[in-house]
Amino acid sequence: MVPQFDAVVVGAGFGGIGAGIELDRLGLRDFVILEREDDLGGTWHVNRYPGLAVDIASVTYSYSFEPNPHWTRLFAPGAELKKYAEHVADKYDLRGRMRFSTVVDGARWDAENQHWVVTIAGGETLTARYLVAATGFLSQPYTPPFPGIESFAGKIIHTTDWDAEYDLTGRRAAVIGTGATAVQLVPEVAKQVDELTVFQRTPIWVVPKIDAPIPGAVRAVFDKVPLTQKAARLVNTAMLEALMVVGVLHYKQAKPFNRVAAALAKAHLFAQVRDPRTREQLTPHYDFGCKRPTFSNTYFTTFNQPHVRLETNSIDHVEPDGIVTADGHKTEIDTLLLATGFNLWDVNFPAFEIVGRDGVNLGKFWRDNRFQAYEGITVPKFPNFLCLNSPYSYSGLSYFTTIEAQMKHMGRLFAELFRRGERTFEVTDAANAQFLDRMTDRLGSSVFYGGDCSTARSYYFNQHGEAALLRPTSTAAAHREAVTFPLDDYTYGPVT
Ligand code: NAP
Repeated sequence: MVPQFDAVVVGAGFGGIGAGIELDRLGLRDFVILEREDDLGGTWHVNRYPGLAVDIASVTYSYSFEPNPHWTRLFAPGAELKKYAEHVADKYDLRGRMRFSTVVDGARWDAENQHWVVTIAGGETLTARYLVAATGFLSQPYTPPFPGIESFAGKIIHTTDWDAEYDLTGRRAAVIGTGATAVQLVPEVAKQVDELTVFQRTPIWVVPKIDAPIPGAVRAVFDKVPLTQKAARLVNTAMLEALMVVGVLHYKQAKPFNRVAAALAKAHLFAQVRDPRTREQLTPHYDFGCKRPTFSNTYFTTFNQPHVRLETNSIDHVEPDGIVTADGHKTEIDTLLLATGFNLWDVNFPAFEIVGRDGVNLGKFWRDNRFQAYEGITVPKFPNFLCLNSPYSYSGLSYFTTIEAQMKHMGRLFAELFRRGERTFEVTDAANAQFLDRMTDRLGSSVFYGGDCSTARSYYFNQHGEAALLRPTSTAAAHREAVTFPLDDYTYGPVT
């Protein structure tokens, strides 16, 4: 039976857009991109909270083959990212092949017909030769089950579901969470509300943000002489790479480098917060890099304002008009802002049920064994399946470095498939096991295993305590391997 599509891509964020561009380049033009939300852009469509901006410099946070000379700041605001996603989707003629408000329930490998059967909520099924999951890592919002939260009489807003119509002026608000989202949100909310209490469980490392508007003249140069923007990108990427490789991945060999980053963050805190007690409360007691550090010049100073309070007692329960902490103190509020992040490891690996060859369920396989994926993209027993949001795929830097490495991997794999005149591929057990061993080995030198991350509560770690999210190699190595991996690491041809 001939499948309806060459490929089904799930997710219309930057990963899915990149996959679409690569599929087109490979001549697999008959594909559909299914998207749960009502528009494209992934994270940059869903997140619209005040203060949203990219935290990797914009020259780097874009496809290398599609530079954008129009960024207005060194760290562009979220709306510009959304606009950029729309521009790329239109330029590469992808929008017409996207189906929005389409929730994928599951996908199953049909061994007889050698294709994937994708089930959409409502019961419709689609068939495709290839399946690409591009559902991202941070796409399943998390609301902690605080006792009594359902009784809260005021307004509750999760940062992934921002209600721009809701006026914060004069409110008594609480923000729960102090991750990267809260670091951007808190200073903005503080400008509007009468009272703000920030509930912190774990403090976060914050370093200064070297941000500024990009003058029109510079943008014009980027536009007229693209090589200049390319050079800026190279410099920025090299700096980030050094920070990641030396400070995080080679922590064991280069502890002083990591300590310098922590000292910089501490000096930043010291310079910005006057009250010693608040300063102490805002100081992390885990190593720099255990969880994603953030950049801000305004987060710490917000706590100097008289109407802003930091609450570090743990939340006991929620009442209709407030939050009660374990010490019995009630903070009366009318607005509850949840910056509580995402659930990665329970519900997002994978984001929908995927059943491969011999009835193997991907989620169960990962949970019963170890989270793993060859080169962070393919898994044995899952033929013709590319999982962009895999364990050990994300570089931890600009997500575009990961997407583009995966696009290169796809290019090499499909070129070999076509050369052999075959239509199915599957990574071998041996290649997958070897890759997992290599990543595990490399993690031994990283801050994740060599440093003190015990109190970090970092989503880099899964439920087994393994730091299985980030790929512990340089992005240069990831890109090199994407174009040189042994072709025999895959089997080609009908899979039985
Ligand atoms: P997050 O880093 O997971 O932070 C969630 C926060 O909620 C943490 O402070 C967490 O505390 C807190 N929390 C969760 N459950 C709680 C509970 N039961 N009681 C009290 N506090 C609780 O999520 P995020 O801030 O949304 O950021 C996620 C990632 O998104 C970032 O690391 C970054 O990669 C990305 N991001 C990027 C940008 C950007 O590029 N501009 C902006 C925002 C986010 P614990 O730490 O104690 O668990």
